[in-house]
Amino acid sequence: MNKKTLLSLFDNATSRDWQDWRWQLKNRFTKISHIKKLFGEDFSHTRILDKITGIYPMAVTPYYLSLIKNNISDDPVAAQCIPDMREITLGQKYPEDPLEEDTKMPVPKLIHRYTDRCLALVTEVCAVHCRHCNRKRFWAKPKSGNFKTRLGGFIRYLEKSPQIREVIISGGDPLIYDDEKLESILAGIKTVRSVEIIRIGSRAPAVMPMRITKNLCRILKRYRPLWFNTQFNSPAELTADAARACNMLQEAGIPVSNQAVLLKGVNDSEDKMRALLYGLQKISVRPYYLFHCEPVKGCRHFRTSIESGIKMMENLRRECSGLALPQYVADIPGKAGKIPLVSISSSTKAEMRKFQYFFDNFT
Ligand code: SF4
Repeated sequence: MNKKTLLSLFDNATSRDWQDWRWQLKNRFTKISHIKKLFGEDFSHTRILDKITGIYPMAVTPYYLSLIKNNISDDPVAAQCIPDMREITLGQKYPEDPLEEDTKMPVPKLIHRYTDRCLALVTEVCAVHCRHCNRKRFWAKPKSGNFKTRLGGFIRYLEKSPQIREVIISGGDPLIYDDEKLESILAGIKTVRSVEIIRIGSRAPAVMPMRITKNLCRILKRYRPLWFNTQFNSPAELTADAARACNMLQEAGIPVSNQAVLLKGVNDSEDKMRALLYGLQKISVRPYYLFHCEPVKGCRHFRTSIESGIKMMENLRRECSGLALPQYVADIPGKAGKIPLVSISSSTKAEMRKFQYFFDNFT
């Protein structure tokens, strides 16, 4: 689906509008009927049903939709943003919150799971609803509440918790906010003397790269040391726009790392994964983690087996430079950290088997 066709759907829209992140947000595709119209025949495929969006709403920026180049049922970008029948037919016994994040919030929306760092969920809203998201539970009823109250709660908790030296600003996607609001979050968190490092987790470079503006980079630069973690899952997402966005962050002195998710049909072959990792390296984005897809309700069809993931990464390890290799890990409830999955020991395997749903025993 090319940019010109998509622009022609909007009255008087120009290329300049296309490069404006607010225009992208305002004009997100949220209705299956629009997608049907765009993709025609291909859309009669059973994966596309209106009733899915009643449970897991759809939201796709025109930019991200323009990255779909293949038949919709065989495209790594479509797989990540177009609803799929299997979201409501497979893995229905999986939990909605497998890491039990909601039980680890000492104050609303702040997850404190590790001693020295915490995750501040500043919003439930995202530019694109990634169909594999492990926080799909937020989409149905986004409870944004009062922004100032939420931020105030974070700051008060951080002031009482000097062991926290790193705050990860996440969501949702924090870059959904405008510069002013985002700066109020950064400034608020920086008032806490014990916070040394801020990390931002955002998919904007992949799904709405025009959000990375000069002004945003100027703001972020003021709050260094600040690290930026993003999520590219397919080489199809590594466009010139995405490369420009990452480069702008890097030129502002902000290291950009990638946390991909291993997704069936998107990046679960050696060729696709190699192309993603080499592509990231070429734009100076560090492949940091490859997460095993969590057993989240509505995401079963994305999950590969751990064994096939290990085999793929071990084969890539034999041929790729260490700089291109992320750590393949699984997040497990109740564990203090992420478990590395390459060269996994038999005792670790046995331990993981306790968490049966990690081995796809549910239908
Ligand atoms: S941007 Fe992140 S939080 Fe938002 S839907 Fe995608 S994976 Fe989930």
